Amino acid sequence: DFGHTGFSIDDLPLRDDLRGQAPYGAPQLTVKAVLNTNENPYPPSPELVEAIGRAAAEAAVGLNRYPDREATALRQALADYLGHGVDAANVWAANGSNEILQQILQAFGGPGHKALGFEPSYSMHPIIARGTATEWVSVPRTADFDVDADAAVAAVKEHEPSVVFLTSPNNPTGTALPLATVEAIAAAAPGVVVVDEAYAEFRREGTPSALSLLRTYPNVIVSRTMSKAFAMAGVRLGYLAAHPAVVDALQLVRLPYHLSTVTQAVALTALRYADELLSAVATLRAERDALVDWLRAHGFEVADSDANFVLFGRFPDRSAVFQHLLDQGVLIREVGPPEWLRVTVGTPEEMAIFREALLTATGRA
Ligand code: PMP
Repeated sequence: DFGHTGFSIDDLPLRDDLRGQAPYGAPQLTVKAVLNTNENPYPPSPELVEAIGRAAAEAAVGLNRYPDREATALRQALADYLGHGVDAANVWAANGSNEILQQILQAFGGPGHKALGFEPSYSMHPIIARGTATEWVSVPRTADFDVDADAAVAAVKEHEPSVVFLTSPNNPTGTALPLATVEAIAAAAPGVVVVDEAYAEFRREGTPSALSLLRTYPNVIVSRTMSKAFAMAGVRLGYLAAHPAVVDALQLVRLPYHLSTVTQAVALTALRYADELLSAVATLRAERDALVDWLRAHGFEVADSDANFVLFGRFPDRSAVFQHLLDQGVLIREVGPPEWLRVTVGTPEEMAIFREALLTATGRA
């Protein structure tokens, strides 16, 4: 500790608005069933591992040079994947969608600006707002975790936020928003509306993506990630689709060469295996629906889910249930509204372990 034993964070010239705050910190534990961060449980196939290795080796030859600052090839491949008439000029990529969201707040938020979100929702939205010194306005969701369109429009008109966050499907509740709600908010918002679609590929039949609104609403930004459906959480590749003017604005705040040559090469390779990677999504959606049915059949309350996780309850002492599960090697997430817990959909084997452990933890075994 360099001998300065009495020295702590309190002795640093930390920004006043960061004092006493807690960092994001989902536990990273080695247990039987890791079901706490909405990762995809299926690792890349041996063929894809090989292809990624080759791509990384080819990229390594040029590592004395900075990467393509514009990530041209990758943005084109992402645009092709999205469809909806999206072009490379509409796409921007960064190290995870968290960095995408941070760049959006750096460009459009900051001191004197507000970001507004509908909670419970993704805990990083207010944390990234804090990091960029953007005032956070929290508007409550309805009792069934929906966003009331009229109340949302009223809140947007009252607070005039530079950035509105709509998470659909929402984390941690799994709730997807009707397009009409997104549209009403986009029409009323004085600034940009970020539709965080990190879990888009897991939506149930008939739930639309906000991609179809991009042509009509130049203030809509759709944020996506390769961390979930693409099973590439370790790569750190998030991206957005928006009007090219939004992409221009983000150039003002992005660090030059932020996306490494290796990241770009690996992400491009994964996109070439999109069909293979996304084939597991159908399996996970079916496993999710079966989990919802099973939980309801056992008397638990369950929020409808369009994502790869399920929010369930209610537990007067949810910490006790969480700990009971962990004692049996099952790591889930204590997050969201009190009395509820969130579990990520894993493999059939992991879900069997979870179900058995939950029955024991809740005295139903
Ligand atoms: N948005 C939502 C709603 C999320 O749940 C997550 C990950 N938990 C992210 C964004 C960020 O994911 P990543 O940075 O890995 O793209």
